[in-house]
Amino acid sequence: METILEEILIYGSALFLCGLVIILYIRKQIKKSKETGAKIEQAKLDGLYEPVSLHPVVDPNSCIRTGACISACPEKDILGIQNGKATTINASQCIGHGACFQACPTQAITLCIGTETRGVDLPHITQSFETNIEGIYIAGELGGMGLIKNAVEQGKQATENLIKTIHKNHKADYDLIIIGAGPAGISASLTAKKHNINFKTLDQDTLGGTVYTFPRSKLVMTAPLDLPLHGKVKLFETSKPELLSLWESVLNKHNIKIQENTKVDKIEKSDDYFQTHINNGEIISSNKILLAIGRRGTPRKLGIEGENSQKVAYRLLEPEEINGKKIIVVGGGDSAIESAMLLMNKNDVILSYRRDSFNRIKPKNAEMINDAIQKSQINVQFKTQLKSIEEKSILLSSLDSDTEVKYENDLVYIFAGGELPTQFLEKAGIRITKKHGESILKHN
Ligand SMILES: Cc1cc2nc3c(=O)[nH]c(=O)nc-3n(C[C@H](O)[C@H](O)[C@H](O)COP(=O)(O)OP(=O)(O)OC[C@H]3O[C@@H](n4cnc5c(N)ncnc54)[C@H](O)[C@@H]3O)c2cc1C
Repeated sequence: METILEEILIYGSALFLCGLVIILYIRKQIKKSKETGAKIEQAKLDGLYEPVSLHPVVDPNSCIRTGACISACPEKDILGIQNGKATTINASQCIGHGACFQACPTQAITLCIGTETRGVDLPHITQSFETNIEGIYIAGELGGMGLIKNAVEQGKQATENLIKTIHKNHKADYDLIIIGAGPAGISASLTAKKHNINFKTLDQDTLGGTVYTFPRSKLVMTAPLDLPLHGKVKLFETSKPELLSLWESVLNKHNIKIQENTKVDKIEKSDDYFQTHINNGEIISSNKILLAIGRRGTPRKLGIEGENSQKVAYRLLEPEEINGKKIIVVGGGDSAIESAMLLMNKNDVILSYRRDSFNRIKPKNAEMINDAIQKSQINVQFKTQLKSIEEKSILLSSLDSDTEVKYENDLVYIFAGGELPTQFLEKAGIRITKKHGESILKHN
């Protein structure tokens, strides 16, 4: 009798413990699922849910919820687990590391570009990186593949390919013009130097491309790079300053000068060479062109007096270092509003917008800017336009009346949209296709 009781007690306890573990596990999964659901709702409100370029697509029939994709992704909250399957959260923040693709043990992830509802414009390029316009090549993110390592690799390969086709007795000033000095343009410049090509590299901003715009504290994830003329760089986790100083020192060592603050407006073909028109009116000719212009485009200028001043910028870098300044931010889109809100706590900020209300901004931004207006944390001037910029002031004119008001000013940030790389390519005659979810990386 005693033994039977003992056995019942032992088996009963074991069953109870198993049950408890299962219940705790299920509760944990339900909690995780709810958390992911809440993050997805937030991502939708913030306009981050729908992918804009490269992104993972999970096959729910193959996913077995190991979570390997989530642990492998170097960015935060791109993927999560919901209802027992991996799913995307802030898909628009995916930069295409592809770590989720590699990590999934059941090959349930495909890396795609564009979606059914939001297509992504990609130029046609051959395996040698040439476009439909003979002599114009494309390398880096513009061609569809993101990441520093890919850009460096493509910059090298595209240049090696085009070098083989440079005409011997062409009449142009240069063999090659490289447009863009991000990772692809830097690598292309080093390759051109290595092969003794007569080339010039132009950038509308500064050396470094998109990397230059990263916050100073950002952890930059990369894979070992093979930098032409320098060799293997064994980097996995690095920082913006470390990458920029590496590129600067390699370029300096080989006496390569990047012509910064030089925007290319258009490219025209004539005989066996191209004419590159730059923003100061100059035209430079070359036998070949390499476009390494990335996908961020060119900010639109207002064309007003004083706009060339040093205190005018078209992007906000290191907002935490700007204190006690009188600032005007121009624009009514998400970039303008987000920048104004980042600056308003430590500075005196005017936000000037041509319309009488903000429309088509993320709901979260609308909520936050309205709250800031109510608390008088920011001076929003609807239906106004920046008229001119002086050293210590700006002139703001009303679009309703003929009045103009002068404000003391230290810094001007302009977010007035811009020219997309697609428009630039179309002007040069380069064929473009909209991609609606085509796979870039897929398991066979
Ligand atoms: C927020 C964020 C985080 C990221 N984090 C990582 C990361 O951790 N690891 C990683 O590997 N990748 C990361 N990336 C992606 C990476 O930055 C890009 O894939 C890479 O910089 C692409 O290089 P690129 O040379 O093709 O273009 P870009 O770096 O974009 O450079 C293009 C250059 O062309 C210039 N240009 C454009 N138009 C003209 C014109 N008309 N005339 C003259 N010049 C022009 C631009 O000024 C720019 O300097 C991140 C991207 C973002 C946005």
